[in-house]
Amino acid sequence: MTNENKVKEILKERGKVKEKVQSTLVLIKPDGLKKSLTGNILTKLSEARLVIIASKVVKVSPELAKEHYKQLADKPFFEDLIVYIQGKYHNCERVMALVYQGPNAIEHVRYIAGSTNPEEADPTSIRGAYGRITTKGVYENVIHASSDEKESEREIKLWFKPEEIVVPLYPTVQVTKKNVHSLEWA
Ligand code: UDP
Ligand code: MG
Repeated sequence: MTNENKVKEILKERGKVKEKVQSTLVLIKPDGLKKSLTGNILTKLSEARLVIIASKVVKVSPELAKEHYKQLADKPFFEDLIVYIQGKYHNCERVMALVYQGPNAIEHVRYIAGSTNPEEADPTSIRGAYGRITTKGVYENVIHASSDEKESEREIKLWFKPEEIVVPLYPTVQVTKKNVHSLEWA
């Protein structure tokens, strides 16, 4: 079945099966931005009929990169992955981070993104259409998508502050800090 037909089928099933509202983190990786794929990727994701509840462009620090991918720290490609997600291979030191919300958002976005390995991904998926494997062996697959609810909660909390998300997602606490300095417009 083609990717598009599968997406239609998932949408059809929504009417029959009670689905769970989920939130998921999407990152358009530096290769996606460098190749001017932002519009194409967002259009593909819009097939899922989900709602964007947060978005921003981020310059990824080494600390954020390592924390985001900490489960992969023992993998041989880890160091290259950390360099890649910071945009240092593409001379493009930014990623676009978004939170999508809606019925079965996690599975749905993962499906539209396609398999991790761009050579194995369905050619009509985002990774299948735009990804590549570098000579170093890194999968430059243009998009990240959370893979389960535990991961999406950890990742959304890592990338976004509560006030950057337009709906209340997780419990919050009021914190008052003394001597905290921040930049404001002059
Ligand atoms: N990755 C890689 N080689 C591999 C597996 C993963 O370069 O053999 C990279 C790829 O960019 C992938 C990221 O590491 O998106 C995170 O890997 P994960 O297994 O979590 O795949 P994902 O959840 O992104 O599909
Ligand atoms: Mg993953």
